[in-house]
Amino acid sequence: MFTAERVADKKDWLSGRDHDWEIIIGLEIHAQVASNSKLFSGAPTAYGAEPNTQVSLVDAAMPGMLPVVNEFCIEQGVRTGLGLNAKINLFSRFDRKNYFYPDLPQGYQISQFEFPIVGEGEIEITPEDGEAVVVGIERLHLEQDAGKSIHDLSPNETYVDLNRSGVCLMEIVSKPDMRSPEEASAYVEKIRGIVRALGTCDGDMEKGNLRADVNVSVRKPGGELGTRCELKNINSMRFIRQAINYEARRQIDILEAGGEIDQETRLFDNAKGETRTMRSKEDAHDYRYFPDPDLLPIKITQAYVDGIKASLPELPDARKARFVSEYSIPEYDARILTADKAKGDFYERLAKGRDAKIAANWMMGDLFGALNKAGIELDDSPVNSDALGELLDLIGDKTISGKIAKGVFEKMLAGEGGANEIVERDGLKQVTDTGAIEKIVDEVIAANAEQAAKVADNPRLIGFFVGQVMKASGGKANPQAVNEILRKKLGG
Ligand code: MN
Repeated sequence: MFTAERVADKKDWLSGRDHDWEIIIGLEIHAQVASNSKLFSGAPTAYGAEPNTQVSLVDAAMPGMLPVVNEFCIEQGVRTGLGLNAKINLFSRFDRKNYFYPDLPQGYQISQFEFPIVGEGEIEITPEDGEAVVVGIERLHLEQDAGKSIHDLSPNETYVDLNRSGVCLMEIVSKPDMRSPEEASAYVEKIRGIVRALGTCDGDMEKGNLRADVNVSVRKPGGELGTRCELKNINSMRFIRQAINYEARRQIDILEAGGEIDQETRLFDNAKGETRTMRSKEDAHDYRYFPDPDLLPIKITQAYVDGIKASLPELPDARKARFVSEYSIPEYDARILTADKAKGDFYERLAKGRDAKIAANWMMGDLFGALNKAGIELDDSPVNSDALGELLDLIGDKTISGKIAKGVFEKMLAGEGGANEIVERDGLKQVTDTGAIEKIVDEVIAANAEQAAKVADNPRLIGFFVGQVMKASGGKANPQAVNEILRKKLGG
């Protein structure tokens, strides 16, 4: 396994015109705490509400309103920190991060600066087709979200929706330990898997409750760190990879032409697949952080932390190890099936009492393939674990062959009914009646007499006859029985 200080593998370097370049990537993930109320007020946080219907006087920053810490959010921060194998700080503090923006009525964001609730940690990621890599966690701090400016409702006015104002976010900051777009997306996927398993964040990137800011710089291997650019608010794994690829290439082109990189915040335009300048990047001191005088520091005890630790559910890494030992499936399968909680739960229901490897193959191949193609999440799959299990049982007891099962599965996806129902309706049961198979075999031999005579000298010709018989039976003949009968009749 590589460590964080590993020498970047050659394949991770983007080739420039003259030199190879190394991409250095660090991520800040904003994960919305799965809390029904906000960090400093009792206003609800439900997604999709009418604009400005979930705004308390605190969230609207009316004069004289005072924030009150939501203890549930503190607990979720600690839980997540434990899930990241990170140091939990018994003392932490909220600070004001001052800046003006129309969707920030307070004129500052309450965040944690000097004393975050969670310190350093580390997680292991495995990018697709890559080796396991340890990525350091720098910190996790709690902060409130801002509202949202809406620019596209009117050509000459901007509206503000404060529903998100004050919603609790966990900002998870990684060390700059990633070296390729694939590692970056694997990291986000791992974090999402962890927070979902913990239940501290829904991890729904489309709804924006988990989004990533990606810091990208390039350097000559072993050289000094380059100037970085921050790509803001990217909300899908694919866009993360696209944005990094584009941005690294952009920086390399500038450097190779003798230019310099400006430190800035950039937007990724997912329609065009490119990044563009949003604003020049501020440094921390630009925000004039200071302790929020309306809030006391957070002091928690080790006993409180230990209590939370004792209640942690099984996390993806532990589940992966258990799948390998309990179901005897390869590590690769186990990793994919434990990438998030829903997949792991589905698999466990499916594999129980069945061939665990066949269950894994069906999920990772046929099911995920179909869902991906249709752009559907596993939770919304038209074929649930019971329905797929019914199909696997028909394969298991040899009622249908694996090949016929693929066709049945297509019909199940199309909503034509359950596996038993379709097999019954379409007459797909495997023919094991040797008399019936013999009849087909005889017909096929009669129609191919010339070939049949050659089987004794060329046993491989049996394959041709198996194919013909299967075809003639509409794929329903039991292949084993077909083989046996053919060999008996033709020798071979
Ligand atoms: Mn932040």
